[in-house]
Amino acid sequence: MDVELAIIGAGSAGYTAAIYAGRAGIDAVVFDREVGGGLATWAPNVENYPGFKSISGIDLMDRMKEHAQDYARFNLFEEVTQLHREEDQGHVKVVTSKDTYDTGAVIVCTGTTHKHLGVPGETELRGRGVSYCATCDGSFFRGKEVAVVGGGNSAVNEALYLHHLGCRVSIVHRRDQLRAEDALEREVRKNDIPVIWSSEVQEIMGDSKVTGLRIVNRETGESSTLPADGVFVSIGETPQSELASRAGVETYGPGYIQTDRMQRTNVPRILAAGDVTGGMRQIVTACGEGALAAMSAVEILGRQYPF
Ligand SMILES: Cc1cc2nc3c(=O)[nH]c(=O)nc-3n(C[C@H](O)[C@H](O)[C@H](O)COP(=O)(O)OP(=O)(O)OC[C@H]3O[C@@H](n4cnc5c(N)ncnc54)[C@H](O)[C@@H]3O)c2cc1C
Repeated sequence: MDVELAIIGAGSAGYTAAIYAGRAGIDAVVFDREVGGGLATWAPNVENYPGFKSISGIDLMDRMKEHAQDYARFNLFEEVTQLHREEDQGHVKVVTSKDTYDTGAVIVCTGTTHKHLGVPGETELRGRGVSYCATCDGSFFRGKEVAVVGGGNSAVNEALYLHHLGCRVSIVHRRDQLRAEDALEREVRKNDIPVIWSSEVQEIMGDSKVTGLRIVNRETGESSTLPADGVFVSIGETPQSELASRAGVETYGPGYIQTDRMQRTNVPRILAAGDVTGGMRQIVTACGEGALAAMSAVEILGRQYPF
């Protein structure tokens, strides 16, 4: 066996799984196709991770990474492209962009990606006013008009972040009420951020850069134009579970990986943790699931958890 445990994804779930596996004496490798840190690095301010009243997502994830590096090896910029369970040998083969590894167990912590609106102009103007990340691109729009499309926690977080950066923000939401936490909704009202209710985006307008949105009111059918220099799309996520489902792992809903309470999937030796399994999709729950998945891996590998 090349590696006892492969952890796919260096986000909150993967970092925690690495800490728990390493402390049980397991030789674990964490793979990430990027630099690591995961989705939480997009959070301008995390206020619900116990122990930190307020911390930037980047800062929190850097701390987790530093901690996890004491317990596991990290293969960053190495994408996992295939998983194969070797029935007879009881191993899982992990194929990456660089190599193939024979492993005793795998924890899939691949998270989610952003959903797209699928309207004209979205793809064409991506990077020219269309963005999916306020923390990454917000500073380009200081003092300018921006629209945030969506009404959940992420959208509201993005809108507040852009507002505090000095952008003139409107929220475009397809429903007649937000779906964000009360505390976030209160912030929207306190900061007088306008919400354009019951409205769907039909087109993102502009030639070489975004100039506005064509929106339609779902109740009246009335079409209008909202001038904007930037559009931040925040309408939900798609689970990155294709890798696992191609290996026979069962999913539910839009593709979340189905696990039991110990994070085991239907395929022996393949476990899953974090946002890719659905549920609350928060840092603290991803960490909890990462710890449970590591414990299950320890059991699968025939070791004892040290407590
Ligand atoms: C703007 C924003 C604000 C947020 N604010 C908060 C907050 O305040 N509090 C809170 O608790 N949560 C917040 N969240 C949610 C939080 O970020 C997620 O719940 C958390 O990041 C989930 O961690 P994860 O480890 O499951 O997945 P992720 O963090 O998404 O990590 C998955 C990792 O897997 C890697 N990966 C995927 N596929 C492969 C592959 N095939 N091979 C190798 N690597 C792969 C990715 O590169 C990524 O690094 C916020 C999210 C956003 C977008």
